[in-house]
Amino acid sequence: MSAFTSLFLGFFLVTLLMQQWLGRRQIAHVLAHRGRVPSAFAGNITLEAHQKAADYSIAKSRLGLAESAVHGVLLLMLTLGGILQWLDSTVPGTSLLHGAGVIIAAFAISSLIDIPLDYYKAFTIDERFGFNKMTPAMFFQDILKHALVALAMGVPLLFSALWLMQSSGAYWWLWLWCVWAGFNLLVLAFYPTFIAPLFNKFSPLSDNVLKARIEALLAKCGFKSQGLFVMDGSRRSSHGNAYFTGFGANKRVVFFDTLLERLDGNEIEAVLAHELGHFKRRHVIKRIIMMFAISFAGLALLGWLKQGTWFYTGLGVTNPSDHMALLLFLLVSPLLTFVLRPLMAAYSRSNEFEADEYAAQHSSARHLVEALVKLYRDNASTLTPDPIHSAFYDSHPPASIRVAHLEKLAAV
Ligand SMILES: [Zn+2]
Repeated sequence: MSAFTSLFLGFFLVTLLMQQWLGRRQIAHVLAHRGRVPSAFAGNITLEAHQKAADYSIAKSRLGLAESAVHGVLLLMLTLGGILQWLDSTVPGTSLLHGAGVIIAAFAISSLIDIPLDYYKAFTIDERFGFNKMTPAMFFQDILKHALVALAMGVPLLFSALWLMQSSGAYWWLWLWCVWAGFNLLVLAFYPTFIAPLFNKFSPLSDNVLKARIEALLAKCGFKSQGLFVMDGSRRSSHGNAYFTGFGANKRVVFFDTLLERLDGNEIEAVLAHELGHFKRRHVIKRIIMMFAISFAGLALLGWLKQGTWFYTGLGVTNPSDHMALLLFLLVSPLLTFVLRPLMAAYSRSNEFEADEYAAQHSSARHLVEALVKLYRDNASTLTPDPIHSAFYDSHPPASIRVAHLEKLAAV
């Protein structure tokens, strides 16, 4: 076994064992706290709702354990198991066409394997807890639409990547990074107007009282948007949410219809103020810059890996080629980034605290707490996650810590 294969297997095992350990910790922790509502929520969340949230979290964590194992086996089969090698010798075509074909085939295999897992999540787990609103026909339609959108956007990008690798010299990765960055900015700018409407209906907010109130908040915060929209989130699931989308002058405020149904005017305003906080504290732009920096480092690394025969043979592929370098890198790099997860999650959680502070200043911390409690309850989010699991996976602070932080802001 080559040294690089051993290194790969080492990273692979550590990641897989960590995922399994974290998932089991989460299940044990939630189960241990299932019997009692945490005191901070005792007045607002019933024991029944708390136990429903615990059971829902546990069911999702169990599925997560299975997913991590399935993805692990798939990665081994594709690389050392020889599937990629087989695809490379089977997919017809020359040069760019062959390369793109191999990469698309590999991603098609991975996506097909995810379908039964996603189906189980929607029609067994979400169904059992009353969250699923999809029919199987809609589920498969969504898959088809997602695949078509991914192909329409991904194929031109893939051909540009392979073409640059082939013909733009030693600094191909730098050119590819420029194309990648430009592509991402285009998607950010056009997603709300062209892509999101393929999956959901967006109608202008019609409640005039609420509209006036939200426009007053936007004006007070100096925020320009291209309009307030309501999304028919209830078509697929009864989870509620609100978000901003778009980029530059193309920004929109989007509310899930399920959110508007459940929260009163005060609470909706507070949730929106939190989302505004993300923009005003420049979290969105910082996230984009960080994503660009990470992809720059990644592509520079790929530029180096691509030159070593050991990179290919160490991962089960005998013939070095541009498309295999790209494909192997896309498959293996998540092992490298898994160890960075706690850092990214901590950064994201610090942004959430800042956005909560913004909401406290421009709207009301008290109303945000009320809104969050309703959302935790109605989305059946656990109030008692395992701290280590949370440090790895949670982009938002655990419920009790977040609410305690807001209570402190409300007190000043
Ligand atoms: Zn947030």
